[in-house]
Amino acid sequence: PCRIHEAYLTWTASYPDKLALADSERRLSYQELEAAVEQAARKLEDAGVRAGDRVLLVAENSVALAVCILAVSRLQAWSATVNARLSAREIDNFLSHSGARVALYFSAGSPQAKAHGELRGAQSVEWPAIGTLMLGPVNQDAVTEPVEEDGARQVAAMVYTSGTTGAPKAVMLTHANLLFIGANNCRMRKLVPTDVIYGVLPLSHVYGLSALLVAALLGGASLYLVARYQPEALAHALANDGITVMHGAPAMYAKLLEWSESGGVALQAPALRVAQSGGAPLTMPLKQAFEKTFGLILQNGYGMTEASPSICQTRLDAPRSDCSVGQPIPGVEIKLHGADQSSEGVGELWVRGPNVMKGYYRAPDLTAETVTPDGWLRTGDLAREQDDGAIAIVGRSKELIIRSGFNVYPIEVEQVLNAYPDVVQSAVVGRTVEGNEEVIGFVERARDTDIDLESLYAHLKANLSPYKIPSEVIVLDQLPAAATGKVLKKELQQRAQQMLN
Ligand code: ATP
Ligand code: MG
Repeated sequence: PCRIHEAYLTWTASYPDKLALADSERRLSYQELEAAVEQAARKLEDAGVRAGDRVLLVAENSVALAVCILAVSRLQAWSATVNARLSAREIDNFLSHSGARVALYFSAGSPQAKAHGELRGAQSVEWPAIGTLMLGPVNQDAVTEPVEEDGARQVAAMVYTSGTTGAPKAVMLTHANLLFIGANNCRMRKLVPTDVIYGVLPLSHVYGLSALLVAALLGGASLYLVARYQPEALAHALANDGITVMHGAPAMYAKLLEWSESGGVALQAPALRVAQSGGAPLTMPLKQAFEKTFGLILQNGYGMTEASPSICQTRLDAPRSDCSVGQPIPGVEIKLHGADQSSEGVGELWVRGPNVMKGYYRAPDLTAETVTPDGWLRTGDLAREQDDGAIAIVGRSKELIIRSGFNVYPIEVEQVLNAYPDVVQSAVVGRTVEGNEEVIGFVERARDTDIDLESLYAHLKANLSPYKIPSEVIVLDQLPAAATGKVLKKELQQRAQQMLN
């Protein structure tokens, strides 16, 4: 295949009745998937979508969304999928920034998507293979981007970054980018048609798009698309639905274990053979608790939207007992820029290979700042190579806290906070006070528990040098998080700063 909608074609021919995609409403075999994609492509074409157009898809995970992403690809247009749970203002920004020809709102499974569609005067339509959705209005003035002669180099998707550190950036990913990562993930997880993948990571994020959707289709596996993460539903699926492969952010695993513990419900996953964490730092207490519960290694992967997203990944056949992210995936190069003795081996991770984005949309300056002329993507993440050659992520350079001249890496402090009983997860941010930076910790407590700050501080003192100990720890019922499960640190930072006023 050289475009993402071709990923499943061998299975349409060789295994037509095999289940390809499912959600709570709908199941499509590989043959039905092909028919549904063809039908959606014709409907979009009738609505005026042409090669080089952007199509905004406002949705939560569903079969209909996956079909439309592939249909947009078939028309050589670009899909721009955004999460329906975002605010009206954010959706409007994406709509105008993307210059979309038309937007689709996946109203059937998402009241939020329906509300966004109604707000913008979209019309309800019924496409037999995928059901009800909302379409329009068509933007007659939308600019059509040039179409690449080489189909693989054409942009397949415009994907917005998580917005952890600022406003989301629009990343242009080509068919070649997404197929390279899809194929890599398919091989690294040894995906086969008997695999059943739990797809709760949003398709609006690149991980869902390439490592879930494209990888599953290349492998002939079945992908269960789940609109919203809910620990109980995940526990149920693991116990009863023959899930063999599970991907999630660390917070999703933490909440699953917390749900089981606080409710006294045992977890089981008889068919599970791959459990993958990624997108945010994995910590030892979580890795160990997961492995003890399931008797299965929790794998760790590191990546970013700009790298489609995979960069480093632990290997199924090389179990790790630490929270490193293993080795670069096959076919990509990395280097640690600026790592030397004075930095104790810590440098900025740079990556080069077929996973690197085409660029940020309509932002040539930002692209030039981020990708060097010889193709290195500067990730902004600080990393170190361990003695055994595995890569350990020590934090984002932007998040490094400099307290009275000493470097404090939030991840190290979070590791210690997470090891305290009843802490589900934590986030450490810097707060500027009179030119110096303070360390501020936020912790999410387990349901129906109280965290005694005095004994928490005793735990911190026993495990951290004094300058790394937070000046303040704030206990919350829940940390603010994106649909990917990633903690929105920017929000916490603002909150920490506001507490001064
Ligand atoms: P924005 O770029 O908009 O601020 P973001 O960087 O969080 O948001 P993503 O592209 O979704 O958007 O996330 C990539 C980042 O997530 C990486 O740069 C890295 O900081 C972090 N990350 C991803 N995987 C891991 C991991 N396994 N361990 C530690 N950090 C990780
Ligand atoms: Mg980023």
